[in-house]
Amino acid sequence: MARISPIKTRYAGYRFRSRREARWAVFFDTLGIPWRYEPEGFSLGDAGAYLPDFLIYPNTELAMWFEVKGDLPTDVEIRKAQALSVGTGLQTCIYFGEVDLPAPASLANMSLDKFMDQVPEYRWINEIGWAPFYNGPARWELEFGPTAYMITPHEGTEPGTSPWWWTDCRLCGRIILKVHGQIGWCPYRGDDLPEDHILYPNFGHATPRLQAAYTAGKSAQFEFGETGR
Ligand SMILES: [Zn+2]
Repeated sequence: MARISPIKTRYAGYRFRSRREARWAVFFDTLGIPWRYEPEGFSLGDAGAYLPDFLIYPNTELAMWFEVKGDLPTDVEIRKAQALSVGTGLQTCIYFGEVDLPAPASLANMSLDKFMDQVPEYRWINEIGWAPFYNGPARWELEFGPTAYMITPHEGTEPGTSPWWWTDCRLCGRIILKVHGQIGWCPYRGDDLPEDHILYPNFGHATPRLQAAYTAGKSAQFEFGETGR
Protein backbone atom coordinates (compact mmCIF):
# COMPACT_ATOMS: atom_id res chain seq x y z
CA MET A 1 0.00 0.00 0.00
CA ALA A 2 1.33 3.38 -0.94
CA ARG A 3 2.10 5.79 1.83
CA ILE A 4 0.91 9.31 1.50
CA SER A 5 2.62 12.34 2.93
CA PRO A 6 1.63 15.96 2.81
CA ILE A 7 3.16 18.00 0.02
CA LYS A 8 5.39 20.66 1.45
CA THR A 9 4.60 24.14 0.35
CA ARG A 10 7.53 26.23 -0.85
CA TYR A 11 7.67 29.94 -0.32
CA ALA A 12 10.43 32.45 0.28
CA GLY A 13 13.05 29.72 0.38
CA TYR A 14 11.26 27.76 3.11
CA ARG A 15 9.38 24.49 2.90
CA PHE A 16 6.26 24.86 5.00
CA ARG A 17 4.48 21.92 6.54
CA SER A 18 1.10 23.27 5.61
CA ARG A 19 -0.37 25.62 3.09
CA ARG A 20 -1.94 27.66 5.87
CA GLU A 21 1.53 28.36 7.31
CA ALA A 22 2.75 29.53 3.90
CA ARG A 23 -0.32 31.77 3.61
CA TRP A 24 0.58 33.41 6.93
CA ALA A 25 4.12 33.97 5.65
CA VAL A 26 2.67 35.78 2.61
CA PHE A 27 0.42 37.79 4.93
CA PHE A 28 3.40 38.83 7.09
CA ASP A 29 5.50 39.73 4.04
CA THR A 30 2.73 41.88 2.57
CA LEU A 31 2.61 43.88 5.80
CA GLY A 32 6.37 44.02 6.28
CA ILE A 33 6.15 41.97 9.50
CA PRO A 34 9.54 40.29 9.96
CA TRP A 35 9.30 36.52 10.55
CA ARG A 36 11.36 33.38 10.84
CA TYR A 37 9.97 29.94 10.20
CA GLU A 38 10.89 27.17 12.64
CA PRO A 39 13.99 29.07 13.80
CA GLU A 40 14.69 26.92 16.83
CA GLY A 41 13.57 23.72 18.54
CA PHE A 42 13.23 23.46 22.30
CA SER A 43 13.41 20.71 24.83
CA LEU A 44 10.70 21.53 27.35
CA GLY A 45 11.40 18.96 30.05
CA ASP A 46 8.22 17.16 31.00
CA ALA A 47 6.31 18.88 28.21
CA GLY A 48 8.53 17.19 25.58
CA ALA A 49 10.18 18.71 22.53
CA TYR A 50 8.73 21.59 20.59
CA LEU A 51 9.49 23.23 17.27
CA PRO A 52 7.35 26.36 17.10
CA ASP A 53 6.16 27.50 13.66
CA PHE A 54 6.97 31.21 13.51
CA LEU A 55 8.91 33.77 15.45
CA ILE A 56 7.52 37.14 14.38
CA TYR A 57 9.05 40.54 15.07
CA PRO A 58 12.27 38.85 16.28
CA ASN A 59 14.52 40.89 18.58
CA THR A 60 11.93 43.62 19.12
CA GLU A 61 9.50 44.39 21.93
CA LEU A 62 6.81 42.82 19.72
CA ALA A 63 8.64 39.46 19.43
CA MET A 64 6.16 36.59 19.66
CA TRP A 65 5.85 32.92 18.79
CA PHE A 66 3.06 32.39 16.26
CA GLU A 67 1.79 28.84 16.08
CA VAL A 68 -0.54 27.98 13.22
CA LYS A 69 -3.33 25.49 13.77
CA GLY A 70 -6.22 24.36 11.61
CA ASP A 71 -8.41 23.84 14.64
CA LEU A 72 -8.47 24.35 18.40
CA PRO A 73 -5.18 23.23 19.93
CA THR A 74 -5.12 20.11 22.09
CA ASP A 75 -4.34 20.19 25.82
CA VAL A 76 -0.84 18.89 25.07
CA GLU A 77 -0.25 21.64 22.52
CA ILE A 78 -1.36 24.29 24.99
CA ARG A 79 0.91 22.93 27.72
CA LYS A 80 3.84 22.96 25.30
CA ALA A 81 3.10 26.52 24.31
CA GLN A 82 2.93 27.52 28.00
CA ALA A 83 6.31 25.91 28.63
CA LEU A 84 7.72 27.62 25.53
CA SER A 85 6.52 31.05 26.67
CA VAL A 86 7.78 30.64 30.23
CA GLY A 87 11.13 29.26 28.97
CA THR A 88 11.75 31.97 26.36
CA GLY A 89 10.02 34.92 28.01
CA LEU A 90 7.93 35.56 24.88
CA GLN A 91 4.20 35.43 24.30
CA THR A 92 2.87 32.58 22.20
CA CYS A 93 -0.14 33.03 19.99
CA ILE A 94 -1.80 29.81 18.84
CA TYR A 95 -3.86 31.08 15.94
CA PHE A 96 -6.52 28.72 14.64
CA GLY A 97 -8.61 31.16 12.62
CA GLU A 98 -8.46 31.32 8.84
CA VAL A 99 -6.05 33.50 6.89
CA ASP A 100 -8.90 35.87 6.11
CA LEU A 101 -10.57 39.01 7.42
CA PRO A 102 -11.98 37.92 10.79
CA ALA A 103 -14.90 40.33 10.51
CA PRO A 104 -16.31 42.69 7.87
CA ALA A 105 -14.71 46.07 7.30
CA SER A 106 -18.14 47.65 7.83
CA LEU A 107 -17.79 47.20 11.60
CA ALA A 108 -15.77 50.40 11.47
CA ASN A 109 -19.07 52.30 11.10
CA MET A 110 -20.52 50.91 14.33
CA SER A 111 -22.15 53.38 16.69
CA LEU A 112 -21.23 53.57 20.35
CA ASP A 113 -24.77 52.43 21.24
CA LYS A 114 -24.44 49.28 19.19
CA PHE A 115 -20.91 48.68 20.48
CA MET A 116 -22.19 48.79 24.07
CA ASP A 117 -25.51 46.98 23.51
CA GLN A 118 -25.12 43.96 25.76
CA VAL A 119 -27.35 40.95 26.10
CA PRO A 120 -28.93 41.17 29.53
CA GLU A 121 -28.85 38.24 31.87
CA TYR A 122 -31.99 38.16 34.01
CA ARG A 123 -31.75 37.32 37.69
CA TRP A 124 -34.55 37.05 40.17
CA ILE A 125 -34.43 39.52 43.02
CA ASN A 126 -37.17 39.12 45.60
CA GLU A 127 -37.82 42.85 46.03
CA ILE A 128 -37.85 43.55 42.28
CA GLY A 129 -38.63 40.38 40.36
CA TRP A 130 -36.66 39.63 37.21
CA ALA A 131 -33.91 42.21 36.86
CA PRO A 132 -31.54 42.62 33.92
CA PHE A 133 -27.79 42.39 34.54
CA TYR A 134 -25.27 43.42 31.94
CA ASN A 135 -22.15 41.33 32.41
CA GLY A 136 -22.01 39.48 29.13
CA PRO A 137 -20.67 40.33 25.68
CA ALA A 138 -22.25 42.95 23.47
CA ARG A 139 -24.81 41.59 21.03
CA TRP A 140 -22.61 42.24 17.99
CA GLU A 141 -19.75 40.23 19.53
CA LEU A 142 -21.77 37.01 19.45
CA GLU A 143 -21.24 36.78 15.71
CA PHE A 144 -17.48 36.50 16.02
CA GLY A 145 -15.93 33.50 17.70
CA PRO A 146 -12.41 33.18 19.07
CA THR A 147 -9.49 32.99 16.67
CA ALA A 148 -6.57 32.28 18.96
CA TYR A 149 -5.12 31.37 22.32
CA MET A 150 -2.77 33.97 23.69
CA ILE A 151 -0.25 32.61 26.16
CA THR A 152 1.89 34.89 28.28
CA PRO A 153 5.35 34.13 29.68
CA HIS A 154 4.12 34.54 33.24
CA GLU A 155 4.05 31.21 35.00
CA GLY A 156 0.67 30.21 36.31
CA THR A 157 -1.46 32.38 34.01
CA GLU A 158 -4.16 30.45 32.26
CA PRO A 159 -4.43 30.84 28.53
CA GLY A 160 -7.79 31.80 27.14
CA THR A 161 -9.28 32.06 23.71
CA SER A 162 -10.40 35.41 22.43
CA PRO A 163 -11.26 37.00 19.12
CA TRP A 164 -7.70 38.23 18.54
CA TRP A 165 -7.62 40.13 15.27
CA TRP A 166 -4.62 41.57 13.46
CA THR A 167 -4.99 45.28 13.98
CA ASP A 168 -3.52 48.29 12.25
CA CYS A 169 -2.63 50.56 15.14
CA ARG A 170 -3.06 54.23 14.28
CA LEU A 171 -1.25 55.14 17.49
CA CYS A 172 2.06 53.35 16.92
CA GLY A 173 1.74 52.56 13.20
CA ARG A 174 2.32 48.87 13.70
CA ILE A 175 0.33 45.72 13.06
CA ILE A 176 -0.45 43.96 16.34
CA LEU A 177 -2.98 41.46 17.65
CA LYS A 178 -5.82 43.07 19.57
CA VAL A 179 -9.12 41.69 20.81
CA HIS A 180 -11.85 42.62 18.32
CA GLY A 181 -9.33 44.79 16.50
CA GLN A 182 -9.81 47.61 19.00
CA ILE A 183 -7.08 50.21 18.92
CA GLY A 184 -8.50 52.63 21.46
CA TRP A 185 -5.46 51.97 23.57
CA CYS A 186 -2.01 50.89 22.46
CA PRO A 187 0.41 49.19 24.86
CA TYR A 188 3.33 50.68 22.90
CA ARG A 189 2.08 54.24 22.92
CA GLY A 190 1.14 54.93 26.52
CA ASP A 191 -1.41 57.52 27.55
CA ASP A 192 -0.39 60.44 25.32
CA LEU A 193 -3.35 60.02 22.99
CA PRO A 194 -4.10 62.53 20.23
CA GLU A 195 -6.85 65.07 20.99
CA ASP A 196 -9.31 63.63 18.47
CA HIS A 197 -8.69 60.03 19.48
CA ILE A 198 -11.71 57.80 20.08
CA LEU A 199 -11.37 55.09 22.70
CA TYR A 200 -14.16 52.89 21.32
CA PRO A 201 -15.54 51.72 19.09
CA ASN A 202 -12.27 51.98 17.22
CA PHE A 203 -11.81 49.11 14.80
CA GLY A 204 -8.45 48.68 13.09
CA HIS A 205 -8.86 45.14 11.72
CA ALA A 206 -9.70 45.97 8.11
CA THR A 207 -7.56 48.87 6.96
CA PRO A 208 -6.54 48.78 3.28
CA ARG A 209 -3.14 47.25 4.00
CA LEU A 210 -4.63 44.53 6.20
CA GLN A 211 -7.25 43.72 3.57
CA ALA A 212 -4.50 43.55 0.95
CA ALA A 213 -2.46 41.20 3.14
CA TYR A 214 -5.38 38.82 3.74
CA THR A 215 -6.15 38.82 0.02
CA ALA A 216 -2.51 38.08 -0.82
CA GLY A 217 -2.33 35.32 1.81
CA LYS A 218 -5.51 33.52 0.92
CA SER A 219 -5.07 33.76 -2.84
CA ALA A 220 -1.35 32.90 -3.02
CA GLN A 221 -0.54 30.10 -5.45
CA PHE A 222 2.33 27.91 -4.39
CA GLU A 223 2.13 25.13 -6.99
CA PHE A 224 4.83 26.59 -9.18
CA GLY A 225 7.32 27.12 -6.41
CA GLU A 226 7.48 30.77 -5.50
CA THR A 227 10.93 32.05 -4.72
CA GLY A 228 12.60 35.12 -3.37
CA ARG A 229 11.59 37.29 -0.52
ZN1 LIG B 1 0.03 50.66 18.70
